This record gives sequence, structure tokens and C-alpha cells, in this order.
Amino acid sequence: MSSELQLIHSKILECTKCELHKSRTKGVPGEGPRDARIMFVGEGPGQNEDEQGRPFVGAAGKFLTQLLESIGLKRSDVFITNIVKCRPPNNRAPRKSEIEACNPYLQSQIRLINPRIVCALGTPAITTLMGEEYSASRHHGKPLAKGEVTIIPMYHPAAALYDASLKETIFHDFQLLKQMLENTETLNPSTPKSSEPSGSKQTLEKWA
Ligand code: URA
Ligand code: SF4
Repeated sequence: MSSELQLIHSKILECTKCELHKSRTKGVPGEGPRDARIMFVGEGPGQNEDEQGRPFVGAAGKFLTQLLESIGLKRSDVFITNIVKCRPPNNRAPRKSEIEACNPYLQSQIRLINPRIVCALGTPAITTLMGEEYSASRHHGKPLAKGEVTIIPMYHPAAALYDASLKETIFHDFQLLKQMLENTETLNPSTPKSSEPSGSKQTLEKWA
């Protein structure tokens, strides 16, 4: 991991910028390769994540691993993090003020890792990255341009675990992610990163 990314992660572990630090066991900065081409952003740590200090290690994490494997990727190929790095008590939704306090860490991670694609898992991650008018139900599987990064909104794996039809939808959206990766040759690690077509918040029609 780059020293700058390491520095951010050590800051997260000691952070007291919002109330969530009071009830955390461990901060959960995120994990994955420093040069990952794909990044996954969830909502926030749950109980298992809070105990282990690692993202997506519970039931939703198992399902995320399955989804990755369905398109030929391993967990260790991708960078995984959340919009808040400390567990909200009793798994309540993170508050707007907490998301805002934590957002600079997420933005720094995106800047330093510079992935081609960021998958926003669930509406809280989608609105944090794209704005209030976006949601999983309306925008899942639609690649959106945000500056130099392509954001793909998706249902949260935890939501999909409880609803068979969402499960099918999220597997389908992962197939789309696979196609995008093939189109941009990102599965070939020797291909250098190039800048993606950008434009503010518009759908990339060729992938939609
Ligand atoms: N759900 C999330 O959104 N993030 C995790 O890290 C685990 C479960
Ligand atoms: Fe700091 Fe984020 Fe944890 Fe709040 S959730 S204490 S802002 S690291």
C-alpha cells in the first residue's frame, strides 16, 4: 500500500471526527490493492467488520465474494471500503453528518487508488457518490460518469440476500461489470490505465 494510503488508514483508526468513534471496536478503513481497477463502496461496518477491522467479512461479504467469483474475480483483486469507516450502533443507517465527516477519507481513497470503476453498493453509497437524486432501484447497473471515474450503482448485497429477485438482478449487474471490464481490457493487468470518457453525471450510453 502506498504510504499516503497507509497514512489515511492510520488516521481513520484514530479518528474522532464523528460520534461513531465512541461505539466502534475497530475502525474499518478498507482493504485491497493500492492499484485496484475496481473499487466497491458499501454503507458501513456491521458487527463482524467492527470486531475484525475488515470490510465485508459477514454474510453480505460472503455474497460479495460469490458475486466477484461469478465474473472471474477474487476478493483480493478489488479494493473494498464503505462510506463510513466506523460501525453505526445496532447497524442503524449512518447519519448525513457522519457520512459528511467521513467522506474526505473516501474521496482520498478514490483519488489515490484511481480505479477505473467504482461500484456503489446500495442507495446510501450511491447518493454519497452521485447525489441525492440517485438510487439503487432507479440506477442499478447503469454506468455513470463522475469526473474521471465511472460509477456503477448496484443493489447492496445484504438487500439482495433477502430478496431472490434482487439477487438475480445483482448477478445480472455483475455480468455488466464484467462486460465493461472486458471492453476496457481491464482484465489484462498489463494494460495501462487510461482516462475514461468523462462528463458530469451522464449515463455512458455505450454501456447502458
Ligand atoms: N455491509 C456494508 O455495507 N459494509 C460492510 O463492510 C459490511 C456489510
Ligand atoms: Fe471518523 Fe469516519 Fe469513524 Fe466518523 S465514521 S469517527 S468520520 S472514521
